[in-house]
Amino acid sequence: MSRLVVVSNRIADPRKSAAGGLAVAVGQALETTGGLWFGWSGKIREDGTPGEGELHTSQAGKVQLATVDLCREDYDSYYLNHSNGVLWPVFHYRLDLADFSTNDLSGYRRVNKLFAHKLKALLKPDDIIWVHDYHLIPLAAELRAMGCQQRMGFFLHIPLPPPLIMAAIPQHDWLMRSLFAYDLVGFQSQADVTHFRHYAETELKGSYGPDDIVEASGAQVRAKAFPIGIDVDEFQTLAKGKDALEMYDQMQKTYGQRKLLVGVERLDYSKGLRHRLYAFRQLLESYPENRGATTLVQIASPSRESVEAYDLLRQRLESLTGSINGDFGELDWTPVRYIHRSVARKRLPGLYRSGSVGLVTPLRDGMNLVAKEYVVAQNEKDPGVLVLSRFAGAAEQLDEALQVNPYDTAQMAETIQRALQMGLPERLERHSALMQRMKAQDVHWWSQTYLADLNASR
Ligand code: UDP
Repeated sequence: MSRLVVVSNRIADPRKSAAGGLAVAVGQALETTGGLWFGWSGKIREDGTPGEGELHTSQAGKVQLATVDLCREDYDSYYLNHSNGVLWPVFHYRLDLADFSTNDLSGYRRVNKLFAHKLKALLKPDDIIWVHDYHLIPLAAELRAMGCQQRMGFFLHIPLPPPLIMAAIPQHDWLMRSLFAYDLVGFQSQADVTHFRHYAETELKGSYGPDDIVEASGAQVRAKAFPIGIDVDEFQTLAKGKDALEMYDQMQKTYGQRKLLVGVERLDYSKGLRHRLYAFRQLLESYPENRGATTLVQIASPSRESVEAYDLLRQRLESLTGSINGDFGELDWTPVRYIHRSVARKRLPGLYRSGSVGLVTPLRDGMNLVAKEYVVAQNEKDPGVLVLSRFAGAAEQLDEALQVNPYDTAQMAETIQRALQMGLPERLERHSALMQRMKAQDVHWWSQTYLADLNASR
């Protein structure tokens, strides 16, 4: 059987519990098959030379870990400026937040070439290589240029925007053409696949045909949607664990007599946190029975703090929270509990379970695993209600959630009110339908389906 080689910007020891959608999912896939996980070590060498980095290898059970250090200049241009300063905002439809002022594309290319060079030395002829996410789009093209013939697949964890938004990225055609070096390109949603096909048609004068094949400039690639799932069994086990139960008890003690709305995310502009606060304010204005009776607990875990847009967002959230609490709060009731810290993964199920309503309302999101975790953590005899943005990748799968347009404040407030008022029979029906889908399309289904398709792609 071919060995699985996973490549992602960051790697995590699969034996340790890791936060973050990608790390959790990939760890699961590798543990099942065994193989090699290659990526950046997380170390920055202040005195290093651009395009060079030391390789470290270690063994973690069945998985060999291989990492490369980056020098400061490479880290800044590849990771901070191009990946997080240009690709992340543009792929989330936020041209206004992209910083095109520095020409960091050369650093992005240089690090992809460095990774390809270091990885090539570790490869066996019949390896299957699975590359993850927007940091490493051109990796296969670099490996092919060095003569690598292995089967290679790519999975994009974030959304792919329509062609005219992509076209704002300098040398976007080079970036998108490089996807054709893979045998299979996986997206989170059907909408992303459609955007890729349209890009090939309109920008590369290509076409798409049967068997998910997209053609452009004489090259072919298969492009399909593989919506990522969570490990339902693992999350249910976590939910029964001591940490989650303690968290639940603590929430009951503190908020027992009130209904809770719960939101958990990284503090990121794609997550729609400001819009959620506008809707909560509207809820308190339009439905005053919630005053004193409903609390919003919002976890916003620190993320990319060295990027300016994130700092600005933090300030705006703090000021919005302060104004809602100032305008509506009572001596014995704080409307919004805003917490700018991470919650350990093993405690999260207890927090989700204490929420009568789970608010997952991103402006744009590749999938959104929190939506799925919220559903799985519920008490199946008395489940809470998921309010989900139609702009999360998860919305294509989770029909039974109450879907909202986060830009429509009045509609979101009305939907939250409907969720708060929903009777037990409807909650049970929706939850059981969501759980069935979650179990059928869990993270194991995701990686097995993707890898079976990659195997069959030649
Ligand atoms: N998470 C966590 N602690 C926090 C916030 C988030 O462990 O305080 C985890 C959460 O359980 C989920 C992941 O981080 O598995 C976030 O994945 P998602 O797809 O929702 O969003 P991303 O952060 O990848 O954009």
